[in-house]
Amino acid sequence: MIFKALFQQLLTKPVTNCFPAKYMPKSVVGFLAKVEKGEAKLTPPVPVTEGFRGRIAYDREKCIGCQLCIRVCPARVIEFKPEEKKIRMYVARCTYCAQCVDVCPVGALSRSQDFLLADYDRFSPDLIVE
Ligand code: SF4
Ligand code: SF4
Repeated sequence: MIFKALFQQLLTKPVTNCFPAKYMPKSVVGFLAKVEKGEAKLTPPVPVTEGFRGRIAYDREKCIGCQLCIRVCPARVIEFKPEEKKIRMYVARCTYCAQCVDVCPVGALSRSQDFLLADYDRFSPDLIVE
């Protein structure tokens, strides 16, 4: 029985998609140089599903500075900038629970489809939303 399953697996195509090279770190220059020369191909990214919880997007123009998002955030991701009456989010701490999105009265916060957030520096500009 187990050998039958093993054999089937050998003949089945993988269900996962190769990591899309367009998101690879800049250090992977060898591969990208090959792509430029036409010697290698980029794998197109797989679309994410509806309702996907990616990086929280912030529309600062809509934000009224009510601070409700700060109150509900369980991970203390969000801080208030009193001089501007706007917020700053430290994405490295975020658990993507989306409670801030649900509570925002003006729809200034939303779930984006951005999920490739690995970084060596938790305070890098890519991980701070303001
Ligand atoms: S998604 Fe959750 S953890 Fe992340 S900022 Fe919003 S409330 Fe905080
Ligand atoms: S809940 Fe919405 S409007 Fe209020 S501070 Fe947060 S982002 Fe701004």
